[in-house]
Amino acid sequence: MIISQKKPLETILESLGESRSVFLIGCAKCATVCKSGGEEEVWQMQEALHSAGREVTGSIIIDEACHMLRVGRDLRGKQQMVDDADALLVMACGAGIQSVSAAVPKRTVAALDSMFLGNIRRFGQFEQKCSLCGECILSETAGICPVTACPKGLLNGPCGGMDNGRCETDPEAECAWAQIFSRITNDGREMDLDRSVPPKNYAKIPKPGKLTLPK
Ligand code: SF4
Ligand code: SF4
Repeated sequence: MIISQKKPLETILESLGESRSVFLIGCAKCATVCKSGGEEEVWQMQEALHSAGREVTGSIIIDEACHMLRVGRDLRGKQQMVDDADALLVMACGAGIQSVSAAVPKRTVAALDSMFLGNIRRFGQFEQKCSLCGECILSETAGICPVTACPKGLLNGPCGGMDNGRCETDPEAECAWAQIFSRITNDGREMDLDRSVPPKNYAKIPKPGKLTLPK
């Protein structure tokens, strides 16, 4: 899921600028789990905007704000409130915010910062495991992603700074490559330690990314 955090209210008010009336949009999926753009946070934002002297014309929690067709359809159902607003304040990830800006030609303001693709350790605790590099090497690295877990993103480690299995950037953290070596050794695949992962071909990762499934 996409992990997001609320921007400070002062930043949001600054971005809203002269827009006096606002329509609020939350997301029922990732932003709800992150407690950044669910029902409760949208209600809190409404209260905060009222206190700051802004009018809220209405609000909606879209089931998946990254679903462009759904966003367009759901906002058409709130047309009058959307029309009455000077700006749309979106409490969703960057993908959700752009679904809204594509659906409605009106000032769109981001209320959240999108942080990373995250795994859920437990409720309210998220960890980045994958950086979406577009060319997965987990088969060669014992199922541990060095692109993400190593602060240097080394494809062939460890670096010279590794100290007794700890990372030179954070002595509290295990070196990603020490973990990979230990896992490979435990699996009895020592021969894999002689292999090196070739440099990544970043040309294979076009931006913006697009994928259409075959029919
Ligand atoms: S190598 Fe790491 S960053 Fe790349 S796709 Fe696999 S898990 Fe994600
Ligand atoms: S110590 Fe290990 S995890 Fe830390 S930067 Fe070096 S190779 Fe990466």
